[in-house]
Amino acid sequence: MSHKYRLLAMLWLCLAVLPAFGAEPAHWRGTEGSLELEGYTYSWVDRGGDASLDEVMGLADDQWRAESPPAISHGYVDHPYWFRIALKNPTEQRLRPYFEIGYPVLRHIEFYRIHDHAPMEKLLLGNERPFEERPLEHRNFIVPLELAPGETLTIYMRVTTGSSMQLPLTLWAPEAFQVYEQSDLLFQGIYYGIAVAMILYHCFVFIALRERAFLYYLGYITAMPLFLATLGGLSYQYLWPQATWWNNQLLMIFLHAVVIFGSFFTVRFLSIGRHSHPIIHGTILTVAGVAALIVLAALVIPFAHIVLPSILLAFIACSLMLTVGVVRLLEGDFAARYYTLAWCFMLFGGIVLALNKLALVPNNVFTQNAVQVGSALGVILLSIAIADRLNKEKQTALEAQQMALREEKNARLAQAETLKIQEEANTKLEERVRERTEELETANAKLREFSTTDSLTGLKTRGYFEEAFMTYCVEAFRYQQSLSLLVMDIDHFKSFNDTYGHLVGDQCLRVVAETMASVVTRSPDLLARYGGEEFVAVLPDTTAEGARCVAERIRKKMASAPFQVSDERITVTLSIGVTSRIPGNADMSQQLFEEADRALYQAKRADRNQVVVFDPEGSEPA
Ligand code: GH3
Ligand code: MG
Ligand code: MG
Repeated sequence: MSHKYRLLAMLWLCLAVLPAFGAEPAHWRGTEGSLELEGYTYSWVDRGGDASLDEVMGLADDQWRAESPPAISHGYVDHPYWFRIALKNPTEQRLRPYFEIGYPVLRHIEFYRIHDHAPMEKLLLGNERPFEERPLEHRNFIVPLELAPGETLTIYMRVTTGSSMQLPLTLWAPEAFQVYEQSDLLFQGIYYGIAVAMILYHCFVFIALRERAFLYYLGYITAMPLFLATLGGLSYQYLWPQATWWNNQLLMIFLHAVVIFGSFFTVRFLSIGRHSHPIIHGTILTVAGVAALIVLAALVIPFAHIVLPSILLAFIACSLMLTVGVVRLLEGDFAARYYTLAWCFMLFGGIVLALNKLALVPNNVFTQNAVQVGSALGVILLSIAIADRLNKEKQTALEAQQMALREEKNARLAQAETLKIQEEANTKLEERVRERTEELETANAKLREFSTTDSLTGLKTRGYFEEAFMTYCVEAFRYQQSLSLLVMDIDHFKSFNDTYGHLVGDQCLRVVAETMASVVTRSPDLLARYGGEEFVAVLPDTTAEGARCVAERIRKKMASAPFQVSDERITVTLSIGVTSRIPGNADMSQQLFEEADRALYQAKRADRNQVVVFDPEGSEPA
């Protein structure tokens, strides 16, 4: 026989012998502490789904398949599985070991105990039953057994599961179980303690900072331990022991919450912009969207159909996040270092757990809880990363603020300078305006003076007289005083001009004006040139008699002081019309003038060089 055939024959022999060898019951002496039962377990798939215990017990030995240690794992299956294990007590004592099924998400377990000399016992287990129905209140399924001396107990289990068909089976001595439990619970306590502390801490940080990255991170670090606690049966034991339907649903919800929050956190934390990284951004958001859809679908679609896509999506999300971390690291994002390392820790936890299940690494509390260890380390690392990033952002903001402050100060200084210049300009302008106003006022005064003064005689003009006379009238009326008006005209002045020329005529006019001014000297009295060789004098608070007196004095002075023209002395005479009265109303200026003018003409007609006082009672002179 060739070497090859010998090998095949040995293999066949092994396969033929294995069931018979495995058919041996597991011997339990109670001194072992614990015993892994996978190597003593047989399984049969109930493809019809409705086989009874009797039918299963009647199955031929070759229909049973021996499970191969270290793990019983059949993946995601729809059919019920039957498992069979025989336990033998070879001692003389009654033994009471614990039978542990270490996978708390199994949905439904019918647990049958077939004793040698006692009646068959049936027990219903599974996470679809209220927690308090469990024979031992524990996150895993624990069934306390009783083995009489020398007895062989056969256990049949019909198992249906919403998730994967895993069946870690251990037989425990109660004392050993207590010892193991202590360290395991301590470990769980440490992990969940860290988780709760982290959640609370980041809750406060979020409330204080209102930074959205913290909210996503908070969601992530809340969903992660909740997922692990649900998977490990802890949340069912302590948080919602009655909620059988929700227990399975929540497992999916938490898993997808991890994916969704992890995605949003990654986008925010690694600055994955819609425009800067369109492909990565789109992919991550798609994954998050699919996760959200699966959560919704889980509410209506049977759990078993949801599990596989969920695991697949979680795996894709995990790989995607790690890839994104590496991409950002290569792009030089400093924060990506922590991030990538944190993801490595979490993945490392998953890998160690897988290796542990495959018995490639030693089985201890650390390796069994590698996912918790990795996730705790990752969470701590991410917290450091966030703090670091925030610190940098704060630094940048501070610098920007200082820059803004400097710029604002500069702007303020520039503004102050401008204001000063403007103020100076304003002051100068005001100064100039004042100067110009003063100049203008002086010029105006001069102009007024000029326009009210007759250039030839230096007396007031007709315009000034007319205005002033009205005021005199109003005042005289108000104080009921007598107001007098003199209208004076040079006699035969036309012939004077004709004889001596206009220049001498002008000279004459000046002399006449001076003469009049020398007589009319009282301060309120007003003397004006009315036009040509006609003059007026207003004498307020003066009676007719007083006015006549003044008029006579002017006439006489003119008549007695001949005017010198070269060698010739010429006498110039004046005719004067006078009126005087207390005005009967405020607007009598016109009337008074007419009266004086009439009196003047009377004087002219009466051969000139005389004073005529208007007589209001008298008839119109002929
Ligand atoms: P009467 O005695 O009736 O007043 O005769 P008269 O010649 O003076 O007549 P009237 O009063 O009408 O004369 C006005 C003359 O006065 C006309 C003009 O020759 C002269 N005259 C008027 N204004 C001026 C002036 O500003 N300068 C000079 N030189 N003569 C003037
Ligand atoms: Mg005249
Ligand atoms: Mg005249």
